[in-house]
Amino acid sequence: MGRLHGLRNRLGQAVCQGWGQPEEHVIPKRFDLIVVGAGSGGFAAARTARDLGANVALVDRGPLGGLCILRGCMPSKTLIATGDLMHAIRESGELAVRAGEPQLDYRALAERKRRLVRGWADYRIAGIDTFPVFTGDAWFESPTTLRVGDDVLYAPKFVIATGSSIAPAAVPGLAEAGFIDSDAALDLEQPPRSLLVLGGGYVGCELSQFFHRAGVPVTIVIRAQHLLSGEDHDVGIGLTEYFREEGIRVETGAHVQRVSVRDGMKVVHYAQDGEEREVAAHEIFYALGRVPNVCDMNLDAARVEHHDITGIPVDDTLRTSNPDIFAVGDVTGRYALVHVAIQQGEIAGRNAATGARERADYRLTKTHTIFTDPQVAVVGETERELEAAGVPFLKATYPFEDHGKAVALGRTNGFVKMLASPKDGRILGAAILGPEASDLIEPLIVAMAYGATAQDYARIPHLHPTLVEILTYPAEEIADRLRAVPTLAVAT
Ligand SMILES: Cc1cc2nc3c(=O)[nH]c(=O)nc-3n(C[C@H](O)[C@H](O)[C@H](O)COP(=O)(O)OP(=O)(O)OC[C@H]3O[C@@H](n4cnc5c(N)ncnc54)[C@H](O)[C@@H]3O)c2cc1C
Repeated sequence: MGRLHGLRNRLGQAVCQGWGQPEEHVIPKRFDLIVVGAGSGGFAAARTARDLGANVALVDRGPLGGLCILRGCMPSKTLIATGDLMHAIRESGELAVRAGEPQLDYRALAERKRRLVRGWADYRIAGIDTFPVFTGDAWFESPTTLRVGDDVLYAPKFVIATGSSIAPAAVPGLAEAGFIDSDAALDLEQPPRSLLVLGGGYVGCELSQFFHRAGVPVTIVIRAQHLLSGEDHDVGIGLTEYFREEGIRVETGAHVQRVSVRDGMKVVHYAQDGEEREVAAHEIFYALGRVPNVCDMNLDAARVEHHDITGIPVDDTLRTSNPDIFAVGDVTGRYALVHVAIQQGEIAGRNAATGARERADYRLTKTHTIFTDPQVAVVGETERELEAAGVPFLKATYPFEDHGKAVALGRTNGFVKMLASPKDGRILGAAILGPEASDLIEPLIVAMAYGATAQDYARIPHLHPTLVEILTYPAEEIADRLRAVPTLAVAT
């Protein structure tokens, strides 16, 4: 029996390798279901299966709490709340308030973040402790047997929810120069004097803007033509322009070649428009993605197919190549969002406990949001997805600068966009780049969940004056274009 360990190759990339270890004979502890990984996805799977009567054990190598609480959503949003307040104070002149330059007590912010994270983690750990918990690295000895330290556990079914890790940095010279990743960026006691960010995904964007608002000169270097390269171009280009207007330097189309150190500064060398260029800062934030945690578990013994970069493939019922073993959350390499991990966990928990074949439906679940300012929120299909699939659609947009409530609030950056079927007006998708987009998108999620058309959306009542009222304008435009808006006849 070989025990695998995560090693790194010459480029610093994680690879799975192993060597033999003698097998001992221990009487296994038996459960109906063992969930490996007690983060958002694993905890949801365990709770759901137990509610259906299964005897469930949790395995986690720790620290307990999961990525979202310890090093993801919650600490980042705590820092961002302070950055946004700093910005609002600086901008308060627009609302006739003279507040002056705000002073940030970074140590107090770090302490606040620690305190809040501790509270959220304690609450989660109290939930985890209602299960039999085995702490340590999980190691499959067979498709039904797992070793955790000195314990050997048996179950006919497993859910793997081991999450993801920061992708190894593969830029020549970066390791020698030193850098921070998102874990370290969230844990600083003092902000860097200046910051160079490699990567324009959502983690890079959110934390870049936070550091900028905390008073740190920030430069983002990206290969793509705009931030958030996976989003529709109008959204990504819009955010890039707002970042630049705010004073964040964004170098696009930049192919990073190497990193060096000069006069105590870290220098990123890149090619752009056929020229060799460089930019220097006191610190580099490497924000170029995460890889699924598939090493270290001996998944071959469990007959679970897996890939170092793309993770564990699953079907829509969350079953892996071994139909008695399920996988959920970041380890599946899909979406990497907490609400997706939770929904997958709940479905896998039900399927594992009952043998059912309930399927995950990502059409609405892939809704996502990015906590920049302006925020980004996307539901359903994007323009790019519809075009790629050859699906015809009607599109209507409306800018916040023409929306009364946004003007009153002094928050006019961005726009809303609705996409609908030209056949019957059914809403296919929507995107918001704008203030409070993460909240504004909610009524559209509900509308789409019930198969609403743009005409439906235009005729239901909406409060005035509200930010969310802006969504009625593209709905009305599409309804007008379809010439199908019936007279207002809302049931009372
Ligand atoms: C900076 C940042 C900000 C983010 N912000 C958001 C956001 O705003 N909204 C959002 O939806 N998502 C956000 N995410 C993503 C989100 O945090 C993840 O998608 C989600 O937490 C993944 O949950 P999970 O259950 O798959 O994995 P995790 O929560 O990572 O849980 C995996 C668990 O498995 C354990 N484990 C790993 N390997 C082993 C092993 N071999 N043996 C035993 N145990 C093991 C770990 O200890 C861990 O407890 C953010 C991520 C980052 C990094």
